[in-house]
Amino acid sequence: MKKILVEISIPEGFEKRNIWVFAGMDPIQRFLQHKGFWEVKTDACVRCGKCCEAIGRDHPIEKFIGVGQNGCLALERQGREKLCGLGVFRPMRCSVGQNDFVKCKVKWASIK
Ligand code: SF4
Ligand code: SF4
Repeated sequence: MKKILVEISIPEGFEKRNIWVFAGMDPIQRFLQHKGFWEVKTDACVRCGKCCEAIGRDHPIEKFIGVGQNGCLALERQGREKLCGLGVFRPMRCSVGQNDFVKCKVKWASIK
């Protein structure tokens, strides 16, 4: 992994919020308040689409996009990959919530 040192200034009033650092639409670093330390993404999304296929009609995305038998209706197959058809307009909850899916390949490690 290539290391680049970046200093982030946290504006007053945001110290108790979860903080996400994005590369394009992919979160690559995060500070989650309940964990209390910074983490870096070590394994990226493999675009298997399983997280989007696993959601049911009780998922909040149902209200905005719709959920069918194969999960979110915005999911599109592109070659061997399955991608969100919303592109950069995908919901924030989707960008930061992939790891909720137990078979997800994305991995995070704490930054020492
Ligand atoms: S909006 Fe996109 S990222 Fe979110 S569940 Fe649907 S296909 Fe997946
Ligand atoms: S399950 Fe994980 S690896 Fe697969 S598409 Fe979703 S975020 Fe990417």
